[in-house]
Amino acid sequence: MQKINKIALTAAVCLAAALTAMNIAFRIPEYTVLILICFAAASIISAVIVLLCIRHFEKERIIRERENILRMMHSLNTMAVLWDSDFHYVEVNAALTRSIGYTSEDLSDIKLLRKVLPPDAFAPSLQAVINSRDEEFAVTAKGGAKVSTIWNTSIVSTVQDKKRNSCLMLSIGLDISETVMMKEDLIKYSKELAESENRYTLSMDLSEIGLLLKEPGRNSYYISDQLMNMLGLNVSEISEGVLKARFYPADIMTFNALQAAMVNRHLAADSGTIHSTEFRMLSADNTYHWYQFRYKITPAESKLLANIGGAIIDVTKDKEKDLLIEKMAYIDDVTQIYNRNKFMQIGQETFECSADTNRSYWVIVLDIDNFHIVNDTCGYQNGNKLLAEFGRIIERSVNSGGFGARIGGDNFALLIHDNGDDELPERIIHKIQSEIRDLFSDSHAMQTITCSAGYCKMSDGGNDFAQVLDHAEFSLSLSDGSKSDIIRYDNKIHDRIIAGTALENELAAAIEKNEMVLYYQPKINLSDGSLMGMEALIRWVKPDGTVVPPNQFIPVAENSMLITKISAFVLKEACRQNKEWQDKGYPPVTVSINLTAVDFYQTDVKEAIQNALEETGLDARWLDVELTESLALKDIDHAIQQMKDIRDLGVKLSMDDFGTGYSSLSYIQVLPITLLKLDRSFIMYLEEDEVSREIVSAVIKIAKSKKIETIAEGIETFGQAEILKRSGCDHAQGYFFGKPMPADEFEKFMSSKSEHCRQIMSVETAD
Ligand code: C2E
Ligand code: MG
Ligand code: MG
Repeated sequence: MQKINKIALTAAVCLAAALTAMNIAFRIPEYTVLILICFAAASIISAVIVLLCIRHFEKERIIRERENILRMMHSLNTMAVLWDSDFHYVEVNAALTRSIGYTSEDLSDIKLLRKVLPPDAFAPSLQAVINSRDEEFAVTAKGGAKVSTIWNTSIVSTVQDKKRNSCLMLSIGLDISETVMMKEDLIKYSKELAESENRYTLSMDLSEIGLLLKEPGRNSYYISDQLMNMLGLNVSEISEGVLKARFYPADIMTFNALQAAMVNRHLAADSGTIHSTEFRMLSADNTYHWYQFRYKITPAESKLLANIGGAIIDVTKDKEKDLLIEKMAYIDDVTQIYNRNKFMQIGQETFECSADTNRSYWVIVLDIDNFHIVNDTCGYQNGNKLLAEFGRIIERSVNSGGFGARIGGDNFALLIHDNGDDELPERIIHKIQSEIRDLFSDSHAMQTITCSAGYCKMSDGGNDFAQVLDHAEFSLSLSDGSKSDIIRYDNKIHDRIIAGTALENELAAAIEKNEMVLYYQPKINLSDGSLMGMEALIRWVKPDGTVVPPNQFIPVAENSMLITKISAFVLKEACRQNKEWQDKGYPPVTVSINLTAVDFYQTDVKEAIQNALEETGLDARWLDVELTESLALKDIDHAIQQMKDIRDLGVKLSMDDFGTGYSSLSYIQVLPITLLKLDRSFIMYLEEDEVSREIVSAVIKIAKSKKIETIAEGIETFGQAEILKRSGCDHAQGYFFGKPMPADEFEKFMSSKSEHCRQIMSVETAD
């Protein structure tokens, strides 16, 4: 500004001097020449002044314009470079330095910038820039990584130079790495798609339909050229044995069924029908392919036998898709063999065919003895490993024909063709038993794994496959579940099932005649021997005075829904009785009732409990509901919701028979229970068996850490009570303290004998 002032001042002085000189010269006529000279000088000086001012303001404008551009550029969130056409001036913004890791000082080094932005990144000439569309290229970040970008350049300011026009250009860039990646993926996928489509078209072109035909009385099958190619055979007639040998072992049953159909007049008469079946066969590429066989059975001349023939198509691809869907519905996750659903489906199909084809089958059900001990001592994961190994053994045992599945927890089942040999099922079971024993004799040093089995013949009775399976399962339930028992369903067992139905009728009548009575068994607080509660246990007292224990009728009641009537009685009576004792002045204690899965899942338990409490006036905190673990696990999500609903009423919840299930510990955390009842099987050997003691103590610790109280059931000796007390168990129940007794007897117990328990526990266990 000072400089311009000086120039302007000098110019003004010169102009003033020129004008003064001109003025003087005007007055002297002979100075005309001088006048002209002065006039010219004044004009030149004025022009210089104007020029200087224009240049100055132009410079100022450029500076302001540049400042504005810079401000705008730095406020951008996208990358930006400002440059002149010769790269004499370059500025980069913060978004660019952030993206590529260089500082703006680094990038002021034009050499580096040229490295970062490829030299051909921007159009070489001004006109090219103006004409250019978006430029897409990779910028090299510090460290060498490439950042995919797209740039757009525009002229933001023009400068009139001495020699030529110069300009400022602003390039704005966007990081398009993700878009580029997506684009690349898209290209890759579309290429793959095109390839697979080509493959598909090719395979469609090459697809062939084979023909298979057998005439009655011949021991060989005729196969067409296409089928020869498909199977990799070079003869057009093969024996039954060779064809059968190509069948996948688990599909041999299908082959047998086809053979059987040949000699069946009933099917042969149905000559118009096209049947369809699927099986796997060893194929030309030495792998098993799935084939669909659409065939007809036509009567032969003899009328007793039939021709069988039809088309065979390779359906491996479709089958793979089907198998995936089937896997989700029918394959057991733990063992990877079929599950109960599939077993029932195949079983029912076989059942229906067996009448037509005059063939019979064996149904075998196996149970791993004391499986819960493996889970509890070796952990859930090892339990699963054992199940998986068992699954493999089952699969191997049906390799030569048959069907195997895991039908529940530690239960497996087999469907085997009956070849007339009555000893076949036992031989198969013995083989499985010996395989499982050998397999785990080393790795599970703590015990030998055994399994028990029940089995029956399909033709031995039953209206459908479900009933046949029931018979096998019923036989299994008669085994003692601990020592490789094998029980065949026979007439005696049949009679017992019939008796069960009779019992059901008798029980229904007994409920109507009010023959159900509640007994009460004390629950003792182990710390001081005081009475903390009682369990209401049902008894059926017949008119002649015979007392039937619940184990003999509860299972029957459960199967027939009579249980809902029994449970409604127990709930109401237990609440009423407890309230009566409280009203009589006995110290308030909790009464526990047992519920079954039927009560729990098929009735509105919450409402029933609420009504019972309201009707009897018992406070919710004095009622405890005992549920078994297997009940809770039937449908865990539903169970948790039901349990929460019950807890919301203020009622307590106990996990009964804890340890008899097979996934015990892992579920404690998710179930909203207040008390854990350790099963009697843990307590029985407490005094002699170190392992039992360790398990019990570990379970108590875990429960404590989850703030769940523990009670041990089945205490028969003082020794057991003492060990439990020392292990930190809170409560106990068992014959040692008191057997289940009728209400009047229990009342006497409360008034006198419970004091006795208090004395034993406080005196004898005092340290
Ligand atoms: P639970 O709920 O585990 O009941 C405990 C069973 O163990 C009772 O058998 C009881 O008499 C027996 N017990 C208690 N202490 C000892 C002992 O020290 N030694 C021996 N050896 N046994 C002992 P109970 O009363 O025969 O009941 C058997 C099962 O029947 C019960 O097992 C329960 O599952 C069911 N049950 C009993 N009452 C009812 C009921 O009202 N409703 C339902 N749904 N089930 C019931
Ligand atoms: Mg119970
Ligand atoms: Mg129990």
